[in-house]
Amino acid sequence: MTDIMDAETQTTLDAHDWFADFEKALTSGDIDAAAALFREDSYWRDLVAFTWNITTVEGPAGVRDLLQHTLAATQPSNFVLSAEPTEADGVTDAWFTFDTAVGRGSGLARLTPDGAWTLLTSLDELKGFEENSGADRPHGVEHGAERDRLSWKEQRELENAEMGVTTQPYVLVIGGGQGGIGLGARLKQLSIPHIVIDKHPRPGDQWRNRYKSLCLHDPVWYDHLPYMKFPDHWPIFTPKDKLGDWLEMYTKVMEINYWSSTQCTSASFDEEAGVWTVHVIRDGEEMILHPTELVFATGMSGKANVPRFPGQELFAGDQHHSSQHPGPEPFVGKRVVVIGSNNSAHDICAALWEAGVDVTMVQRSSTHIVRSETLMDIGLGDLYSQRAVDSGITTEMADTIFASIPYRILHEFQIPLYDKMREVDAEYYEALSRAGFDLDWGADGSGLFMKYLRRGSGYYIDVGASELIASGAIKLINGQVRELTENAVVLSDDRVIPADVVVYATGYGSMNGWVKDLISEDVADRVGKVWGLGSDTPKDPGPWEGEQRNMWKPTQQPHLWFHGGNLHQSRYYSLYLALQLKARLEGLDTPVYNRAEVHHLS
Ligand SMILES: Cc1cc2nc3c(=O)[nH]c(=O)nc-3n(C[C@H](O)[C@H](O)[C@H](O)COP(=O)(O)OP(=O)(O)OC[C@H]3O[C@@H](n4cnc5c(N)ncnc54)[C@H](O)[C@@H]3O)c2cc1C
Repeated sequence: MTDIMDAETQTTLDAHDWFADFEKALTSGDIDAAAALFREDSYWRDLVAFTWNITTVEGPAGVRDLLQHTLAATQPSNFVLSAEPTEADGVTDAWFTFDTAVGRGSGLARLTPDGAWTLLTSLDELKGFEENSGADRPHGVEHGAERDRLSWKEQRELENAEMGVTTQPYVLVIGGGQGGIGLGARLKQLSIPHIVIDKHPRPGDQWRNRYKSLCLHDPVWYDHLPYMKFPDHWPIFTPKDKLGDWLEMYTKVMEINYWSSTQCTSASFDEEAGVWTVHVIRDGEEMILHPTELVFATGMSGKANVPRFPGQELFAGDQHHSSQHPGPEPFVGKRVVVIGSNNSAHDICAALWEAGVDVTMVQRSSTHIVRSETLMDIGLGDLYSQRAVDSGITTEMADTIFASIPYRILHEFQIPLYDKMREVDAEYYEALSRAGFDLDWGADGSGLFMKYLRRGSGYYIDVGASELIASGAIKLINGQVRELTENAVVLSDDRVIPADVVVYATGYGSMNGWVKDLISEDVADRVGKVWGLGSDTPKDPGPWEGEQRNMWKPTQQPHLWFHGGNLHQSRYYSLYLALQLKARLEGLDTPVYNRAEVHHLS
């Protein structure tokens, strides 16, 4: 154990002592001594380094259990503080690196005089299979003279011609949105034979096809893809078509094996052969692929949730889900009713109003709203903003800090931020309430990000529509839809809303539904619900699971994985998914600790 610090401050000594004791306990196999270094209310979150899983254990008992199952194989050593520990309010933050038998890792600990409060350990790379970057970057050219050598272009063409035809991908990623593309880049850098398939004609079409007015709701500092950050002149909120073009460019320059216009129609796992049989239609032609590992990156906002109401077949006008909404132009001069009150509903209503369309929003349940500027400042500003960058917080640091707060207590960190937002924007919320808008702050007041992690829905980041609702420019009606008639939406209390067009901004179904469609109901049930934490809040039933269900980690169906989420999650967790896949490709032993049980089917 080495301490890089020269200054022998008390803080440094504390962190030094803690890690020295921790390493001594681990290397001598003294699991009780290691567990005793943690507080009763402590959390150890591990991303693949000890557990070959993404999992969090709690308290000394949890630490003991984790180590009993993983210590012998992991052989952790060489814990080194990688930055000067900092102390605030009695908690010392300590950044560190360490080795395992097969890899190198890093982490962040929060230490108190009573012991460790939180510990994050994550695997950064596998020994012997490091990515070729920096000093180890590829040469690009082989100097000298050689007959019949292939140029870079010819090699790429050869790989493209062979992959999936005469050679099989080790990993097949179904879905080439931002998630599949980011993962594809990681697979490429780790030299994992792969194909990413998508039914759209071009990478980025996922975003291009969304409603015209859409810009990313999250700011640029939060949205970088792996390896290649957006340039400094990039707008804070990326317009959707610009993001589409970035994804297309990224796919090309990152040399991802990407098959456009390719739809997966079915997949089954052959237990005996240990490979999948995946049927795809590529440019209209049927093909069969045999990957060993199959990743669903089909999007948690990909399977449209279209509600069924009596009378829909009678409705004479246009009705479509928000994912099919073309923008306002075709509806000028018409009366549009938008059912739903989350992000898409607001964006669509605002764009319709801008085009002079008569638009009504039907709010069926309460919605959490935060003003974009307030969220940027209070919610994200410390980690993902120009302010954070200027104060030396890199994207990588921000990602680690965020990941180091265990989900069990994340809401406690979030509640004060949202209390502050409520206070700062008190007048704004009063105006919305006066207009009849039904507001909420999440089940426990923890706001937007917890809602996102728990249920992936139920909020709007206000970029302008709320003002239109408060002023009545967008008409607001609260109630439940009972039926449609030829020319109206009728609510359960008999109110009739005349309509020429109905837009269902009613959200999306679980990724689990894709498994049912493409593999089988049996496998979908074995894998269970995808997303959510088990927080026992609306749309996220308990019991507590501690991590996002089925995301980026081994599922109950061997060789089947899920990837996705927002740009931040895709960027960060794609590394841990890619390392798990690489370890399997290279035949490393990957015993999974604490594989999550299935409590809910969908
Ligand atoms: C209106 C809206 C606004 C959003 N704003 C933001 C934001 O500001 N910031 C942010 O980070 N996130 C945002 N999100 C959420 C999320 O990041 C996006 O939904 C994002 O597109 C998810 O990326 P993905 O790659 O996981 O899935 P998707 O982009 O949905 O891509 C999945 C892909 O899978 C393909 N696919 C599915 N089935 C098959 C099959 N059988 N065969 C072949 N291909 C298949 C689809 O064609 C699709 O291209 C937003 C979502 C919506 C709906």
